[in-house]
Amino acid sequence: MTDRTRPVIGVLAVQGDVREHLAALEGAGAQALAVRRREELASVDALVLPGGESTTIDKLTRIFDLRDPLRSRIAEGMPVYGSCAGMILLADRILDGHRDQQTLGGIDITVRRNAFGRQVDSYETDLDVVGVDGGPVRAVFIRAPWVEEAGPGVEVLASVEAKGETHPVVVRQGRLLATSFHPEVTGDHRVHRLFVQMVHGSA
Ligand code: GLN
Repeated sequence: MTDRTRPVIGVLAVQGDVREHLAALEGAGAQALAVRRREELASVDALVLPGGESTTIDKLTRIFDLRDPLRSRIAEGMPVYGSCAGMILLADRILDGHRDQQTLGGIDITVRRNAFGRQVDSYETDLDVVGVDGGPVRAVFIRAPWVEEAGPGVEVLASVEAKGETHPVVVRQGRLLATSFHPEVTGDHRVHRLFVQMVHGSA
């Protein structure tokens, strides 16, 4: 970390809403860097896995030879924040995935892809998130997953009521954070700030 006050946080930039996360990270006090190559991955203190299409991101990370380095850095304790498709990539288990779809894993959760229903393109609500002060966060869900099952080491920071049940949509396990929704599209940087604090805490 060159500047201790502004950690370098990468955004995996093979597909998805990379630009929005770069802007949100800068707004939250980090130096943001698009990561497409192994050398770029090696140079960051932490990483964001953006929203997009998890099947495509999975394929491209394998094609670009990023999968093994990503898994190693996660295992070594690099802080990672995954939003929407990024939550799917951080999940140890996946329901309704493509036949050959793999995840990077790291968080002891089972996620269900497109959980709100394939016909539900997007859904918005105000959510209180543990660790985020200043009132509820506007949560924008776009063909979003939710957490179907979480292991004992997983902290649930926010949940939604849907289909008569409660489903976690913000979870944290150690240095890994995941949200089903897209805080990068609202201009409110508090979730990214929470992640930047986690990165400072891990340094
Ligand atoms: N449904 C997408 C997937 O499975 C996630 C959507 C999103 O990231 N907005 O990857």
